Amino acid sequence: MTTTTLLEEITAKGVSAVSSELTDSEAISMTEQYGAHNYKPLPVNLVRGDGCRVWDGAGKEYIDCIGAYSAVAHGHLNPAIVSAIVEQLHRMAVPSRAFYAPEVALFMKGLAEYAGLDMVCPMNTGAEAVETCIKLARKWAYTVKGVEQDKAEIIVGEGNFHGRTTTIVGFSTEPGYKDGFGPFTPGFKVVPFGSLAAIEEAIHPNTAAVLLEPIQAEGGVIVPEEGFMAGLREICDRNRVLLIWDEVQTGFCRTGKRFAWQWETARPDLMSVGKPLGGGVLPVSAAVGTREVVEVFVPGDHGSTFGGNPLGAAVALTAMAEMEREGLSDRAQHMGGRLAEGLASLGSDRIKEVRWRGLLFGIEVADGLDTKALSKAFLENAILTKETRQRTFRLTPPLIIDEPTVDEIVERVGRSLASV
Ligand SMILES: *Cc1c(COP(=O)(O)O)cnc(C)c1O
Repeated sequence: MTTTTLLEEITAKGVSAVSSELTDSEAISMTEQYGAHNYKPLPVNLVRGDGCRVWDGAGKEYIDCIGAYSAVAHGHLNPAIVSAIVEQLHRMAVPSRAFYAPEVALFMKGLAEYAGLDMVCPMNTGAEAVETCIKLARKWAYTVKGVEQDKAEIIVGEGNFHGRTTTIVGFSTEPGYKDGFGPFTPGFKVVPFGSLAAIEEAIHPNTAAVLLEPIQAEGGVIVPEEGFMAGLREICDRNRVLLIWDEVQTGFCRTGKRFAWQWETARPDLMSVGKPLGGGVLPVSAAVGTREVVEVFVPGDHGSTFGGNPLGAAVALTAMAEMEREGLSDRAQHMGGRLAEGLASLGSDRIKEVRWRGLLFGIEVADGLDTKALSKAFLENAILTKETRQRTFRLTPPLIIDEPTVDEIVERVGRSLASV
């Protein structure tokens, strides 16, 4: 008896032939058998994407209102991004940072200019960008501010989400993210999100930085009061403390500005960016900051094998250029306004509150409403969205969305709410 292993089959037929023979239910059960159960996906097996739409193996079409947690800002397989990646694949992909490469040089200049900051440390994932900011802030505290070795503190917000590494979950306030994974890295102090008074009180001579999301996205789309960001900038200046914005989810036009801090011109000393920077096709992230902070790194201090490679750099440069050419920040404001009006016009008593800025939306449903049933209704009505915390369904569709699609989302959300 001869058995063909999966890899022999791949060699014989190629990945696309083998994957297109796999049914939706086979893909789902294979994932559950061989994959770690660290996610609980919706029971949808996606085989194709185009713009704001995606399809399962049975051919059912959905409107993608998650957009890979806002990583897919340009729409699925945006043609400009696809040609940039294909073109770069004929030149060079991953030589490593042991060498220089022109696309990486251009990427660092392009991102620094786009952000209005001085220097870039390229990474891959959002969590790595946040870790990079933490290391930079601590080293700045010791070498520039003069904090005693190993005593630096970073102030963070309650309900934060900055990624999944052990250091980062250590200062999460969500038991589900951290239980079972200790012991954790010391040096973080948690204060209520959105309270300037609490931050002011938490600051002492060893404080290196305040690290916050300008709008908490995973935390349920929590928008701080007007004046918070500008007020925080002022407090940080007065106390010689670095301001670090985590813009991994809010950055690159999502909230209707290039970066959410621009709503109050609260320019950071450092920020982490990621998600849509990879054009929806690759992981590309970075810590971006002022020269005073980023130049504390010397050779050997930090690194990443794939961080800052020509392939990712070509994609990220194109991603930023396309956001400018397509006017995605104005578009996010306009489409977000239309979506907010549409949701309000539903007049549904099943919606407790809609919190939003640009195209970052959280729909908090009424107490007592069965969210599992609503989740099912969204799928039946071909809307892809998932609950984040606090009974809040998040809508972060691609920013290239058009008016008819926004109206379709409103209509389908209305139908789903009415059915439970
Ligand atoms: C998603 C996210 C991260 C983590 O990004 P990964 O690429 O998943 O590591 C960090 N910060 C914020 C605000 C995020 O939304």
